[in-house]
Amino acid sequence: MSLRVAVVGSGPAGIYTAEALVKQSPGPVEVDVLERLPTPYGLVRYGVAPDHTSIKSIANYLQRVLELPQVRFLGGVTLGEHLSVEDLLSCYDAVVYCTGAMVDRRMGIPGEDLPGSVAATDFVNWYCGHPDVSPDRFVLDSPEVAVIGVGNVAVDVVRVLAKTAEELSSTDVPHDVLERLADSQVKAIHMIGRRGPEHAKFTLKELRELGELANADVCVRPEEAVVLGADFPRQIKGNIDVLQSWAAKPPVGRPRRLDVRFWLRPVEILGTDRVEGIKLERTRLDDDGRVVGTGEFETLPVGMVLRSVGYQSVALPGVPFSERTMTVPNEAGKVRDREYVAGWLKRGPTGVIGTNKSDAAETVRTLLADQPSGGQASIDDLLARRGVTPITYDDWLAIEKAEADLASSLGRGARVKLVGLDAMLSAFRS
Ligand code: NAP
Repeated sequence: MSLRVAVVGSGPAGIYTAEALVKQSPGPVEVDVLERLPTPYGLVRYGVAPDHTSIKSIANYLQRVLELPQVRFLGGVTLGEHLSVEDLLSCYDAVVYCTGAMVDRRMGIPGEDLPGSVAATDFVNWYCGHPDVSPDRFVLDSPEVAVIGVGNVAVDVVRVLAKTAEELSSTDVPHDVLERLADSQVKAIHMIGRRGPEHAKFTLKELRELGELANADVCVRPEEAVVLGADFPRQIKGNIDVLQSWAAKPPVGRPRRLDVRFWLRPVEILGTDRVEGIKLERTRLDDDGRVVGTGEFETLPVGMVLRSVGYQSVALPGVPFSERTMTVPNEAGKVRDREYVAGWLKRGPTGVIGTNKSDAAETVRTLLADQPSGGQASIDDLLARRGVTPITYDDWLAIEKAEADLASSLGRGARVKLVGLDAMLSAFRS
């Protein structure tokens, strides 16, 4: 008899888990990958920036896993809505939760909920065509925008804001979104780090790309590029060198300007009906290495604040969750009898996409060592009884084809994302 496993979530963690089950299992295995959206690949489709085509090509690898005979894609199926944990355990020997980190962390400052103060997760979903965010969600009508945080998501957001619509035209950005980017009034982008260049979370390759922007000058204040000490790991030393080289270079008058700022923390987002500015306090590290304010303030006249201060996971109905770590408590991937977790939901939103491969492999080793055995009920019968018709892998291929057709009809690249669930569903129902 085959080992039957449900993987909840079809992002990189879920699909690497399916692959590890097929590769590691000593006996036959059947894996169903359940996904609430009609489309697989999670963050690769809806998180990786559209102009990062080589990272996006990880989808080709994930596709080969979904095409393995032991693996089945069941889209449009939501845990907590269409079925419960108990249902899954009645149908499978084991369940692996891989739903990632879907919401933004909060900064906890006044004004954070004003219109115009936006979670980077929303903005990223917007330009990636996520069906949860409508293309008319954002109008880029402010000449100045602040992006809070100096991680790779902040760099992605800044790059999309700084590029011209022409530069993004060959990407898969939804056409309505591309038109809004073409109408952007943004002239100045301020990327704000609450600590120094040596503490920034972005990686060197991503930082260097900002220096290649054809449409924007990148500016760093020499006094903010100064670092104490010299003994840094190679990546950080690389970041510092790049930032210091920008600090030594005057702007050349490109249409947009990116100011990369350090040692400033947001204390209040200003405005009455919408964002009209952001108040920042200069910071330093105290003797314990904590960020503290110096009492010196600065206000930027921005009309939009993009909060890019990290993602966090959300609790799944019926699954243990730690509000302290915002992850599912686990031991090497094991949650409870026959329940496991992998990816960002297991360890928090860190690392690159490939990190999820070794993470999933660990969870699968734990699962296989347990030899879990349980439910014999049929998931197909259970979903049919509830009136749920899962979206199949072939349905997904029809969505992909419709996206390729749309791109060629618009004369834009290899794919243009369909926007909204209706457009996706009609791609295979027609
Ligand atoms: P991140 O790397 O954790 O960066 C978060 C940033 O927000 C840090 O600069 C952090 O500063 C700052 N921050 C946190 N709380 C703050 C607050 N209250 N006020 C001001 N600043 C605050 O998170 P991320 O950028 O969302 O990235 C998530 C993961 O995805 C990372 O592993 C990243 O490398 C990965 N990713 C990779 C790529 C790529 O490879 N191209 C692209 C996108 C994302 P402190 O350091 O001071 O806390």
